[in-house]
Amino acid sequence: MTIDPHKCVACGNCTYVCPMGAIYIDPARRRATIDRDECVECYACYNGMSQEHLNPTLVRAARRFLAMLRVRFDPEPDVCPTAAFSPDELIWPRMVRRAFSDPRVPHESTGIEGRGTEEVKTNDVTGRVKAGEAGLTIEFGRPGVGVRFHEIEEMCRALAKVGVAFEQKNPVTSMMTDVATGTIREDILSEKVLSAIVEIKVPVERLEEVIVLVREVEKRLDTVVAIGVGARCDAQGEDTVVAPVLRRLGYKLERAKTNAGLGRAAAR
Ligand code: SF4
Ligand code: SF4
Repeated sequence: MTIDPHKCVACGNCTYVCPMGAIYIDPARRRATIDRDECVECYACYNGMSQEHLNPTLVRAARRFLAMLRVRFDPEPDVCPTAAFSPDELIWPRMVRRAFSDPRVPHESTGIEGRGTEEVKTNDVTGRVKAGEAGLTIEFGRPGVGVRFHEIEEMCRALAKVGVAFEQKNPVTSMMTDVATGTIREDILSEKVLSAIVEIKVPVERLEEVIVLVREVEKRLDTVVAIGVGARCDAQGEDTVVAPVLRRLGYKLERAKTNAGLGRAAAR
C-alpha cells in the first residue's frame, strides 16, 4: 500500500484504521507514511475508508487558515479526503501478506476467503475429525498483533517433531516445503501477516500433551496464539471426551459453536 505524499493532507484519519499501527504521521514530512515492514497489505485503509477527491492544496490551505483562527478542520473519521491511498502491484513473496490478511481475497490453495480454512466447522460434510480424534486450530496474530512466518514455522516444527498430522487443505500447510518436519518455504519466513491458522488433528489421548506443547512454544514467540479445539458430539449432542481434558488443563469451557446438519455427510 502506498500513500501519495502529494495528496496526503496529514489529517491522521488513516492512522486509526490500520490494524497493525503501520501508518504514522511523519513529523518531518508532515505526511502520513506507511512502515512497509509492518504493513500486512490487509487493504483496511484502502477499502475501509471512503476515498474523497478534494483538492489537496485547497484542503491544506483551509486547514492552515483555520488553524490560525484556532479552529480545526478535520474530515469525517472514516474518510481519506484526498484519496491518497493506492495499492501496490504485489509480487512474490510480498503478495503472501495480502493472501493472509485481506479477508476478501480467497486463498489459492483452498479457494476459501478469510483465513482460508473452514477449520472443523464443516466436519459434518468433510468428516475430517473422526470419533476419538480432536481437531485443533492454532491461530496466530489476532487481535492486532500479526505474525511472521518464521514464528509460525517454529510452532509447526515443534508439532511435527511429536508427529501430529497437519490438515492438507490449509493455507499454512500449502506453504510448507516439508510437511513431515513442518518446514515453511524459506522465501516467506520474514513476511508478516494479520493472522494465520495451523490446523492439526490428534487422537484424544494425545490432546493434553499437544496443548501443553503449544503453550510452551508460544512463550518463545513474539505474537499471540489462540487454541481452538473441535470434537464430535456423542448421540446426545454432548462431548464427554475432550471437555474433561480441557478442564484439567485449567480452561473454563465455553461451547462456542455446535454445527449440526449443515450439509449432507460426504464422509463417514
Ligand atoms: S486519511 Fe488520507 S489525507 Fe488523511 S492522513 Fe491518511 S492518507 Fe493523509
Ligand atoms: S494495508 Fe493494512 S496494514 Fe497496510 S497500511 Fe493499510 S491498513 Fe495498515
